[in-house]
Amino acid sequence: MRDPPRQHPKTVFIPETETEAWEQYVEEVRPNRADWKKVSHGDQEDGFEGPLKVLNSVLDSCKESFTAADENHQKSSTQWFDSTALMGLLCRHDRVLWLVNMTSPGERQHYALTLIDTLFQHLPLHFTVGILYDIACTLHRSCVRWKFLDQYINRIAFTISVFHAYGHGWQCQCVYHPRKCRGFVLQVCFRTSVQSFRFRTWT
Ligand SMILES: [Zn+2]
Ligand SMILES: [Zn+2]
Repeated sequence: MRDPPRQHPKTVFIPETETEAWEQYVEEVRPNRADWKKVSHGDQEDGFEGPLKVLNSVLDSCKESFTAADENHQKSSTQWFDSTALMGLLCRHDRVLWLVNMTSPGERQHYALTLIDTLFQHLPLHFTVGILYDIACTLHRSCVRWKFLDQYINRIAFTISVFHAYGHGWQCQCVYHPRKCRGFVLQVCFRTSVQSFRFRTWT
């Protein structure tokens, strides 16, 4: 049983229905993991996905190392709690713009997609956005592969939050490390039209 919803008039929480809509959409579009592995790793050679500059095998290992750490961390939490964590979208001044409640074990992509989608709905059409995220590399691949956020993709620069960047393979770092990406070297270098946003998960 859940308490009746009580909402602060200035809430920064994105309504659960929107997160659920994204979750459903992601599941519809993307075959489940086992099926995809069969398709993608059958006899095919390693290669690049669309315009991406990092090999699929490298991105697979980024994803695997992240998933392993994350699952160990959250394995039992759904057993006891409705929400397992919060994911937040922060602007570069560390201000919370939006939050979502995470209700599934592990950090799944539909949470990040919900946050990014909400952000773009509030920005002028000419804005370019730099996104710093722990696993921006595999999120970028999903966006290319499954056409998530297709209408915004040309206005997004994906980079890995600096604290996490060194956990990724060197090939991935060459492309997604913020120091290798235009507009991210130092915060003070930002042009005003380029905003950076990053995610943080509280557990
Ligand atoms: Zn990576
Ligand atoms: Zn700000």
